[in-house]
Amino acid sequence: MAKKDDTSDSTFVPVEKTLLHITPEKRKYALERCESYKESIADYLAVKDSIPTGRKLAAQYVKNKKRILDVLGGTDDDWKDWRWHLRNTIRSVDQLVRIIDLSKEEHGHIRDVEEMYRWGVSPYYASLMDRKDRNCPVRMQSIPIVNEVLDTTVEKDPETVLYNSPAPLITRLYPDRLIINVTNACAMFCRHCLRRRHISHENLLYSKKDISMALDYVQEHEEIRDVLITGGDAFALTNERLDWILGELDAIPHVEIKRLGTRMPCVLPMRVTDDLCEMLSTHDPLYLNTQYNHPKEITNEAAEACDKLTRAGILLGNQSVLLRGINTDRHVMKKLCQELLTIKVRPYYIFNCKMLEGIRHFRPSIQDGYNIMEYLRNYTSGLAVPTYICTLPMGRGKTPVMPNYLLNINANGKARFRSWQGLVMDYDDEKRDPDYIRE
Ligand SMILES: *Cc1c(COP(=O)(O)O)cnc(C)c1O
Repeated sequence: MAKKDDTSDSTFVPVEKTLLHITPEKRKYALERCESYKESIADYLAVKDSIPTGRKLAAQYVKNKKRILDVLGGTDDDWKDWRWHLRNTIRSVDQLVRIIDLSKEEHGHIRDVEEMYRWGVSPYYASLMDRKDRNCPVRMQSIPIVNEVLDTTVEKDPETVLYNSPAPLITRLYPDRLIINVTNACAMFCRHCLRRRHISHENLLYSKKDISMALDYVQEHEEIRDVLITGGDAFALTNERLDWILGELDAIPHVEIKRLGTRMPCVLPMRVTDDLCEMLSTHDPLYLNTQYNHPKEITNEAAEACDKLTRAGILLGNQSVLLRGINTDRHVMKKLCQELLTIKVRPYYIFNCKMLEGIRHFRPSIQDGYNIMEYLRNYTSGLAVPTYICTLPMGRGKTPVMPNYLLNINANGKARFRSWQGLVMDYDDEKRDPDYIRE
């Protein structure tokens, strides 16, 4: 007996039809157009293979891993254990000099910076660093440089969080959703971190009592339908603690979705264990936003972690920060967004880097970000195009910055567009079939 969905039986036989009747002129037109599409990305095609990616560098990363295991006295099994990585976070210059090349001057600079700001890098993330290249995008995100302490002209940290916290651990800037900051701990202290003040010098796990009060606030405000759990890093919590928080949110009828903010899939993919995924899969619907900033970070390990998460039913998004010298090259950003799709992570946001003390050297201009967006739309899959966001001062919210394609629109419904390729075209919005209009 045939199965119900077996389409090979006689009830579902499509009619075969040839399309060879398309005229040669039409075909010729299409062929020419296709040639011009290819030409419009010729600059990208010429450089794409020279952009380093985590998967292309896999053999080098294995060598780096061996060297780091030697330095730290660990085994291959240790490497698979995220707790080992956290216990062995690299946070001293003495260790670091055995892993990457550092000049005497750089030693001094790191010591100057660590007086003010914490630094630390998981052995895994350290294995993605180029030993010699000071401009390695992984090194730039994790190892302090002197610029961090030279810049004292701008705001230390926005007070935004404090003025927008109606209950412990909560930041609320929008009508129907809010953030609960559950810890300040991270597997790696990004040099571009906006929350330096919260990161302080020690790991804090906020008390169950504080978290309960935050959950009570959510319970009491039925307009809140979306709750973001972040930190620090949501995956710095134990599975048990995370399970408890998610369970409490599941029990609140007006909470429709939950989101996790974590950089672990990028900086410590071993954290994504089977146990973690099994627990998360019981808290449907669950979204996770992570942060990859460069294609070098898209490694085999990262791909495996993201695969596990998606199989557990979690939808993955990426929030990059636009960082000078790391991903401001438009080809690198395009490659990053495309690589993300291959590991089933949807590019969600690119954040403009804020004007904050200690991170100003990372800031590109808003124009730089705008140009990248112009370069992405229709030059790559719509799925690969994130929204570029400037967060306005004083908690005035995430604000999209995007190229404008609608040039004008008048009262008679005449619209004028600019196409992605720069053609100006009129579009008659009034020309509708009258039969379909019923007033
Ligand atoms: C970023 C953010 C959110 C989520 O914003 P989305 O645009 O919905 O992703 C919610 N609350 C606060 C305080 C935020 O900073």
